[in-house]
Amino acid sequence: MSLPDLCKHYEPYFILHEDKLKAIVRRFRDEFEEGLAEYGQDMAMVPSFVTGVPDGTEEGTFLALDLGGTNLRVCEVRLLGQHRFEIKQQKYKVSDELKKGQAVILFDYIADSVDNFLTEIGSEIGTEGPLHLGFTFSFPVEQTAINAGKLLTWTKGFAAQNAIGHDVVKLLQDAFDRKHIHVQCSALVNDTVGTLLSRSYQNGPALIGAIFGTGTNGAFIDEVKTVKKLGQEKIQEAERGGEHAGKYMVLNTEWGAMDNKRTTLPISIFDNKVDRESINPRKQMFEKMVSGMYLGEVSRNILLHFIDSGLLFDGFSSPVLNTHYGYDTAFVSKVEGAKDNAEIKRIILQDLGVEADHVTETCIEIVRWACRVVATRASSLAACAVAAVVLHTGNDGSRAEPDRGVDVGMDGSVAEFLPNFETRVRDALRLILGESGEKRISLGLAKDGSGIGAALTALQAKKAMDRRG
Ligand code: BGC
Ligand code: MG
Repeated sequence: MSLPDLCKHYEPYFILHEDKLKAIVRRFRDEFEEGLAEYGQDMAMVPSFVTGVPDGTEEGTFLALDLGGTNLRVCEVRLLGQHRFEIKQQKYKVSDELKKGQAVILFDYIADSVDNFLTEIGSEIGTEGPLHLGFTFSFPVEQTAINAGKLLTWTKGFAAQNAIGHDVVKLLQDAFDRKHIHVQCSALVNDTVGTLLSRSYQNGPALIGAIFGTGTNGAFIDEVKTVKKLGQEKIQEAERGGEHAGKYMVLNTEWGAMDNKRTTLPISIFDNKVDRESINPRKQMFEKMVSGMYLGEVSRNILLHFIDSGLLFDGFSSPVLNTHYGYDTAFVSKVEGAKDNAEIKRIILQDLGVEADHVTETCIEIVRWACRVVATRASSLAACAVAAVVLHTGNDGSRAEPDRGVDVGMDGSVAEFLPNFETRVRDALRLILGESGEKRISLGLAKDGSGIGAALTALQAKKAMDRRG
């Protein structure tokens, strides 16, 4: 069975060779430097004001709120020390109207959800004083303190009005106060920062927390003096104020915006279409090639192109295929995980609603190919991001003796459910860093990073508050 020549034509955009991978890593590193030097860059390199990673001994019970994935989640997290925790949680649906309406209404809904959680599920948290809540808000924020930060831009299908430029902690606290809900938002944390903290709490010190889910992003820990845009005074202040010898800070890269200027990424006509038709065109270019919100959509555009070229399904489409975001990344995962062509055929009939008569063996091969190339590119690009952080921070094994390697905590639906994700990330890491470079990187899932990370950050904030008296 041979694939049509059109497949060969598009493959260079998806199957990335060593030179391309290395060029992307270089671009990453340049943008890291730009983002550290100045505010307002595509790669925001946001200082999180989290000054160290936990060691697993932390204890306490906190509320956590997680906005920015598929659902809104409210959690009660009990940190038990000894690297252990317990979590109770409830998911709340965020409708499209809420995502795109007025921000006050969205934040009222969030506060109501917390209220509902406390009545229905919670709470073992002591009743003296307000409950401390860590807010995992997984969007680009220019953070100015552990509990303050202005929204820079929405991503992942959110577009609520009157939020950009506003302090999201204040938006949330105002909603609690309006409703007389006795909760204090004491920490603002990105999900990647949460994942880094959660992984470190459970597994020992990690370098990177990465999300490959609805969106993609990564955070890492480095010396605060590398954040030049903070200025000498603030750097020294941070060095004095920190807990762990005061030298470190967790940085949220916001790598989803990598190469928004489009100099290096292998952008195909399918990516251009996904971008053009998105609610944030010309933004989050890297994210649109890597994350779960878009992989289904990229593959859908490929299939449509093959249909329109008369090469697939006899030129017939289906309502699902004709619908913007008509199916999601789960389709790609299913096809990738299928054991044979018969199974792929069943998936095509069920999920795409194409008529059986039009599905030949070649059609099945084309669908398999489309899913494979989209998933392979996402994994290779993910590897570029990880490798770039390893090289940028000098954690390439050349400095420390003995080399303790590098640990990466990951979370998100792509990392968890896309078959072969880790294998392909490793294939690309090997091309970029060589065999030994790849081997010293450990990748592990840190599920629930948003909840546990928010609790750990709330604890750090509370400690800092107590120190100040
Ligand atoms: C956001 C990040 C977030 C990532 C993963 C991106 O769209 O900009 O802040 O960490 O998604 O949730
Ligand atoms: Mg999440």
